[in-house]
Amino acid sequence: MSRRRWLLADQLGPHFLDDLDQPVLLVEARELFRRRILHRQKAHLILSALRHRAAELGDRALLLRTGTFREALDRVGGPVELVHPHSRSALAFARTVEGLTILPPRGFLTDRADFAAWADQVRRGPLRMTDFYRWAQRHHRVLVDPPAGGGPPRRRSPADTLDVPAPPEIVEDDIDAEVRRDLDRWAAEGVRFAGRDGPRRYPATHAEADARLRHFVRHRLAEYGRYADAMSAEDPTLAHSVLSSSFNLGLLHPEPAIRAAERAWRDGSVTRSAAEPFIRQLLGWREFLWQLYWYFQPRFRGVGWLAATEPLPEWFDQLDADAVEARCLADVLTGVRDRAWAHHAQRLLVLGNYALQRGWRPTELVDWFERCFVDGTGWVMNATVIGMSQYADLARVDTRAYAVDGRHIDEISDYCTGCRYDPTRVLGDLACPYTGGFEAFLHRNGERLLGDPRLAAELADRDDPERREAVLAQEEKRGSTAP
Ligand code: SF4
Repeated sequence: MSRRRWLLADQLGPHFLDDLDQPVLLVEARELFRRRILHRQKAHLILSALRHRAAELGDRALLLRTGTFREALDRVGGPVELVHPHSRSALAFARTVEGLTILPPRGFLTDRADFAAWADQVRRGPLRMTDFYRWAQRHHRVLVDPPAGGGPPRRRSPADTLDVPAPPEIVEDDIDAEVRRDLDRWAAEGVRFAGRDGPRRYPATHAEADARLRHFVRHRLAEYGRYADAMSAEDPTLAHSVLSSSFNLGLLHPEPAIRAAERAWRDGSVTRSAAEPFIRQLLGWREFLWQLYWYFQPRFRGVGWLAATEPLPEWFDQLDADAVEARCLADVLTGVRDRAWAHHAQRLLVLGNYALQRGWRPTELVDWFERCFVDGTGWVMNATVIGMSQYADLARVDTRAYAVDGRHIDEISDYCTGCRYDPTRVLGDLACPYTGGFEAFLHRNGERLLGDPRLAAELADRDDPERREAVLAQEEKRGSTAP
């Protein structure tokens, strides 16, 4: 008898199955939704994706709705197998299940042993994504030609000149209606959710995700590189693919996406400087983060904190965007509340930067990102929040602190026009909380930042003791209140 393949909620694409006949197990375990306060739209997407996969597979699929995974497995007779899970907790659980066969990981290009061999070889200092990316390009034969003739220079700009079609809208169906009814009932029974409900915005099936990928490559990839770091109150998506949840649910394998972007460059539809940042996100960052999560066993957490001991304030934790006057932060927090998503510049420079400046606890921030973002998942968030955004793993991975002031946000966004604060002011009623916060961050962490040439120079520029005291007093008074 063929073993039943148990597909987890992040293993829902065709590449997690081998043949057309194998029976499949899908489990909706209520414990996942009770343990943490998930964003309502994230809970919807997970359930919708599971149920859509069950519907696609028809009689082959057994969809069980239980309290726990163990209950589901106890109800299934016969042998079960599982592709290596994407979290340590799921892997630890799987290893306790008698008779469960764990298969090698899928959904990534780079083999774990190959990464370990590379990392062991280069590990004289911290691991660098750029080094890994170069290795991965050679190893997987992606963009191996020299980058000559690369098109227009990268431009940092808000969206005022960007004119690309938005990602195609998702059309909800009966499955989504049923999911919405179930979540309403769960909420009435006491299950708590973060954020607001809304129409499903993100793909729940491979077909939806693939359609979005093709639309992105055709219509938006050409502008991706130039606008990747821009932020706009007028356009929450700009030229982003908005496919992170599709990759993280396993609906898409990254390799076809990488090859499609490379093909678009080779056939002349986009420049290399447009295609390469997208490819680097998948072949570089995404693969690197996944590998780090497993390479640094048992935990990729908790090395070399900056002075970060403050709890997340309630307004932030509860996504109370209406309490915030700072235009950039209000806009991004509104996006998280209403769409469970923000693009990476908003995550890093508005959300993460604010938390870094205020010394919020990185572990709480990781948990918040995981719960509130539709693509939030442990292996990504640990490394991006702890390692990058909060600069909290100084020893093992080479990152720089993503601390910037309001003037930098003004350069790359249209937020500051119309904000009640002034990005150039450090002190006073109009002082931008990012500009004052940046300076206070420099003073609070002074010696710890001397290894970062940019921040060390910024600190050296601000050596007036009187001003230092005034800034620290002002920002301490601002404390954890919403800016
Ligand atoms: Fe944000 Fe400061 Fe600009 Fe206001 S002035 S939008 S708070 S960076």
